[in-house]
Amino acid sequence: MKKKISIIGAGIMGMTLGYRLMAEGHDVTLYEKSGPDLVESASFWAGGMLAPYCELETAEPLIAQLGEKSIDLWQDYIEEINKNYPVDDVLGHPVYFQKNGSMVVAHNQDEPELFNLFNRISHTGFGSKVVMLDGAGITKRESDLKGRFNKALYFKDEAQIGPRSVLYALRDILKDRIHFHTMVDVPEDLEGDIIIDCRGLGGKSDNDNLRGVRGEMLLIHAPDVALTRPIRMMHPRYPIYIIPRPNGHYMIGATQLESEDAREMTVRSALELLSAAYSLHPAFSEAEILEFGVSFRPAYADNLPKIKINKNVISVNGLYRHGFLLAPALTEHVLSYLDKGHISEEAQELFEEA
Ligand SMILES: Cc1cc2nc3c(=O)[nH]c(=O)nc-3n(C[C@H](O)[C@H](O)[C@H](O)COP(=O)(O)OP(=O)(O)OC[C@H]3O[C@@H](n4cnc5c(N)ncnc54)[C@H](O)[C@@H]3O)c2cc1C
Repeated sequence: MKKKISIIGAGIMGMTLGYRLMAEGHDVTLYEKSGPDLVESASFWAGGMLAPYCELETAEPLIAQLGEKSIDLWQDYIEEINKNYPVDDVLGHPVYFQKNGSMVVAHNQDEPELFNLFNRISHTGFGSKVVMLDGAGITKRESDLKGRFNKALYFKDEAQIGPRSVLYALRDILKDRIHFHTMVDVPEDLEGDIIIDCRGLGGKSDNDNLRGVRGEMLLIHAPDVALTRPIRMMHPRYPIYIIPRPNGHYMIGATQLESEDAREMTVRSALELLSAAYSLHPAFSEAEILEFGVSFRPAYADNLPKIKINKNVISVNGLYRHGFLLAPALTEHVLSYLDKGHISEEAQELFEEA
């Protein structure tokens, strides 16, 4: 039966749900406290890495399972969007998505960590998803890294998505259904058969164990560097990615700090991120810095996402460092719950009922 559904929060979780629920014929309305540029969402600042296997460095196998499902779903969604919503007419620009693998490199002193990561992933059920490359294997895939590293890990099935390009495409598709500059509380202010709370860190007011994990990033223009896929560098403090985007742009991210300090990026973080890029390729020294940003990953204590059901209110939160990696898979689980009226066997560990 078609339902009247209100979604609070138009980050990647709210947008993906809105898009799919609308496609299923439900009467969907979204409420978003920020403006159409969505700069107040964590999603706006994300790297868009879809790295389910590499994330096994610190994440549970559940994240890899949901993540690989999401990569397939993103491909389906984007194909459907391209077919049904013409660029220029409906969308301002196409959605950027690439499934060209990702690579992890390490300088000599960090090589033991690279072997540790290889061993760790090899002992999960996803061991076949990683291969160790030697210098020739690295050069074959990334000629710009020739001679720079002796070993690398290669994940051929990993992907990347342009976070802003997909957010804005979904915004354009849903535009008549989104109320921007509208802050609402859950659930008193809203009517509807179903209310879906996707407020990210905005949900902290009634979710004691939600926390923000500070992430800082830089966007640079480096036309002299020609990397073709996301490169992750082993780093003692946090995983650093250098993510190529169209037109010679690279996103460098991200720090991961247990802090909700909302100050701008610190000098230490800028030095660490830029040094990592420079150590990957010296031509990054001539890059133009276009932007630096700070945001907060919404996370529960165990860093796993949760779908919480309380009567007609469904909260989908705690996407932590995996919002783009998980949003489609979580969306399909919510749709299945709404359709069947019960939680499917395979999704039990994601759901909590009040
Ligand atoms: C620097 C950085 C890099 C990252 N890189 C990656 C990556 O490579 N891959 C990946 O998968 N993930 C990445 N992430 C994580 C990802 O960004 C988050 O997991 C994801 O954005 C969470 O999405 P969300 O929709 O739950 O929350 P948000 O994107 O924060 O959206 C919540 C929305 O709710 C709105 N809102 C809040 N309260 C209210 C209210 N009361 N009323 C109305 N609206 C409200 C907010 O304005 C916001 O727009 C990164 C995060 C950071 C910070």
